[in-house]
Amino acid sequence: MRDEQEEKPLLLDTPAKPLSLIRVVNVSGLRGEARKGVVYVGRGFAGWMAHPLGNPFRPQAGDLPGTCLTLYAEWLSRKKNLDELMRKLWIQTQLGALPLGCWCTDATAGDGSPIICHAQILADMLRDRFVVTTG
Ligand SMILES: [Zn+2]
Repeated sequence: MRDEQEEKPLLLDTPAKPLSLIRVVNVSGLRGEARKGVVYVGRGFAGWMAHPLGNPFRPQAGDLPGTCLTLYAEWLSRKKNLDELMRKLWIQTQLGALPLGCWCTDATAGDGSPIICHAQILADMLRDRFVVTTG
C-alpha cells in the first residue's frame, strides 16, 4: 500500500475571461462630468433623464418593505420587449463597464447586499443574461 502524498499543482491560473461585475451606484452628489460615467435608471429628477426601465411604482403609506420592488419585478417580467430592453441596457453600460445609477444604494450584483433598489434587480438580470463568470 502506497502512502505517498502526491502534491497536486495549485490552480493559480487566472481565468482568461474577465469577470464583469455589474455595479449600482448612488447618484446623490454626482455632478457634471461624473454623471457621464453612470447609466441612470431612475425617474426623471434633478437633471437626470427618466430611464425606460425606471421603477414606475412609488411607496405607499402602509406598504410592506419591498412592495415596490416586488411590483417592479412583476412589471418587468410582463414586458413583451424585455429581451430588447435588457440588450439596450447592457449596451448602455458598455457591456458592464459603467454602473447603473439610482438614489438608493451602492452595491454590486451578486455581492449579497440586501436588494433595496430596482437598479439592483436590473444589475442581477444583466449579470444573469450577459456576464460569463468562471470558476
Ligand atoms: Zn433605487
